[in-house]
Amino acid sequence: TSNTSNNFIAKIIQEDLDAGRVQSVQTRFPPEPNGYLHVGHAKSICLNFGVAEQFDGACNLRFDDTNPEKESQEFIDAIKDDITWLGYQWKGDIHYASDYFDQLHDWAVELIKADKAYVCDLNAEEAREYRGTLTEPGKNSPYRERTVEENLDLFARMKEGEFDTGAKVLRAKIDMASPNMNMRDPIIYRIRKITHHQTGDKWCIYPTYDFTHGQSDAIEGITHSVCTLEFEDHRPLYEWFIENLPVPAQPKQYEFGRLNLDYTVTSKRKLKFLVDEGVVAGWDDPRMPTISGMRRRGFTPNSIRTFCDMIGVTRSDGMVDVAMLEHALRSDLNQNAPRAMAVLKPLKVVIENLPEDHKEMLKAPFHPELDLGEREMPFTREIFIDQDDFKEEYSKKFKKKFCPGKRIRLRFSYVIEATDYEKDADGNVTLVKAKLIENTLGENPEDGVNPKGVVHWVSATDHKEAELRLYERLFTSATPDKGEGDFMDHVNKDSLSVVTALIEPALAEVDAEANFQFEREGYYVADRFEHTAEKPIFNLTIGLREDKSL
Ligand code: ATP
Ligand code: MG
Ligand code: MG
Repeated sequence: TSNTSNNFIAKIIQEDLDAGRVQSVQTRFPPEPNGYLHVGHAKSICLNFGVAEQFDGACNLRFDDTNPEKESQEFIDAIKDDITWLGYQWKGDIHYASDYFDQLHDWAVELIKADKAYVCDLNAEEAREYRGTLTEPGKNSPYRERTVEENLDLFARMKEGEFDTGAKVLRAKIDMASPNMNMRDPIIYRIRKITHHQTGDKWCIYPTYDFTHGQSDAIEGITHSVCTLEFEDHRPLYEWFIENLPVPAQPKQYEFGRLNLDYTVTSKRKLKFLVDEGVVAGWDDPRMPTISGMRRRGFTPNSIRTFCDMIGVTRSDGMVDVAMLEHALRSDLNQNAPRAMAVLKPLKVVIENLPEDHKEMLKAPFHPELDLGEREMPFTREIFIDQDDFKEEYSKKFKKKFCPGKRIRLRFSYVIEATDYEKDADGNVTLVKAKLIENTLGENPEDGVNPKGVVHWVSATDHKEAELRLYERLFTSATPDKGEGDFMDHVNKDSLSVVTALIEPALAEVDAEANFQFEREGYYVADRFEHTAEKPIFNLTIGLREDKSL
């Protein structure tokens, strides 16, 4: 895995190295374990791990776990899996912001001693009033002038659990008139009487994101702390803590534009809602834009990384066309996925000039260019082709189809000619009778009447059945979370349909997560969790062409 990119973050890093401002690059990826990672996080992962690789540095994985009420071990485990699957390795042990709770507490005490923090008793509503607005300065809290002694005492008692949740907070004493709302005496500690997944019941006060992030970066020696643009206004506060505390290093924050994809929501809160409401089967449902959902859908790590390369990294938020993601996926699968045959709408063809018990094992390569080995396919007197490949009337439009009196090539097999067909009472063709043209395995017919089309097929007497899960986009609107109404109004009610297909016997044996192109049908993947040789299950990853999108 080698990434070299020329994005603005990479340029900043190069300049810092050239100027000797940093000796080696240390980045971090800091998810909050309150949900599964989504495709937007993949952009951040590719950037943080990517620049670390590019400059021979390292990237830490740090769980930003300051809101225990929403976090869990399940999410921690899923996040670790996703990063590993994408092909990245964090440096050393996993870090948790909660590893630094003791240090952060001590630094909060230092701020109090320096008269740069105070305990405030305003309730949430009052605090909002005192905070002012974008156009009006805030007012000082009536508790702002508490003495250092009083603040030390109150903060200690907050820590001991003497006060109820929400009764008091610790605030940094900065500037209630600052044009930047984040500098108007931001909260740095709040009371939460909740068991924490890492620290148990040790704490009932928890530091805020702002008081945690930069200091954690400093403790870990992060040189470039890369985050999304919504934190731009938090940068002065990030720097204020770094300047006002005896931190061991001077990390710097840089912001880039987050990924927004059309037909997709990329907010953990909204994705959680889809899970909780049962719109999807779970966080890793193949329709979800989560990394684990995409994995189960049949995305490859390579396709996601290529996509992140394609979209680049800029300092503005933009909407990315989901067709770019589809393109990256389709071209990776086209290059690398083995081919196989599956018939979704079977129509029986009887090759009457073959003996009843004819069975010939034909060899077919798994890939037209790559050496992926070959499989054997049983060729028998009765086979299935797809209903769409037979037409009762020949016409120019159907010249590549199988028609009475016309010939067709069976993929990796012989040329056959349709001699007759049968229909049911509703007029549906139920059976085609055909004859095999001799000596056409890998050869054109000796009489020079060459077939125009090639169709996929399976043996009617020696195949397996597979469940195919056909997925469509989860949202019918390009911008489900913008404009009128709720994103839930735009959920595609028909995003999953299940059909039975007939597959080559060899396909039942493949491993879970094996990607295939079912020739002329689409790209499919053996379901990660439910596929077995006894009950093969394949998920539709994506159609073969642009017009057959996710
Ligand atoms: P969400 O809004 O979905 O809850 P978040 O930003 O709160 O996402 P975190 O777990 O805090 O989620 O994110 C970890 C890292 O991933 C952060 O640095 C964050 O900026 C980045 N990230 C999250 N969403 C995106 C996105 N859509 N595009 C790029 N980076 C993202
Ligand atoms: Mg966050
Ligand atoms: Mg969030």
